[in-house]
Amino acid sequence: MTDTKWTGGCQCGAVRYEFSVKPDNPCLCHCRMCQKQVGNFFGAYAGSHTDNFRVTRGEIAHFRSSADAIRGFCRDCGTPLAYYFLSHPRLDVTIGSLDRHAEFKPIRHIGAEGMAPWWREVADLPAMPTGVVDTYGDTDERFEMIKASNRQHPDHDSDHWPPM
Ligand SMILES: [Zn+2]
Ligand SMILES: [Zn+2]
Repeated sequence: MTDTKWTGGCQCGAVRYEFSVKPDNPCLCHCRMCQKQVGNFFGAYAGSHTDNFRVTRGEIAHFRSSADAIRGFCRDCGTPLAYYFLSHPRLDVTIGSLDRHAEFKPIRHIGAEGMAPWWREVADLPAMPTGVVDTYGDTDERFEMIKASNRQHPDHDSDHWPPM
């Protein structure tokens, strides 16, 4: 892992990318199109000039969601990866796809017209680590099995993937 490149990729590892500078303007977009792209209440994005971005493994598949906007994803695992306009040389990636995602604290909400009315209340909900609430009949053995068989690409570049 290098500290000078800002790398990321999809869950399965078929697509990897890097920025030569730290992506800027981290934000949460609540517009309905971003909600639909990521299948969530909002999309979280940070980006940079397209000159600072390159794909280092595989390729990003695209859905042209309007005349000017492109939504990028991994064709193999479906991870939402990118968002950009054809008319503007900037590319944003989904913050969750960045290896060092926790270093991107959002600085604003956009698409506020689509914000769920209860949005500001969810930060105060009870918070428990994975496995504490027994929703799916979880057991320690099951979590060990899941951990041992985890096929998610690690949060750093890899020479070979999948490893086996
Ligand atoms: Zn993938
Ligand atoms: Zn949006």
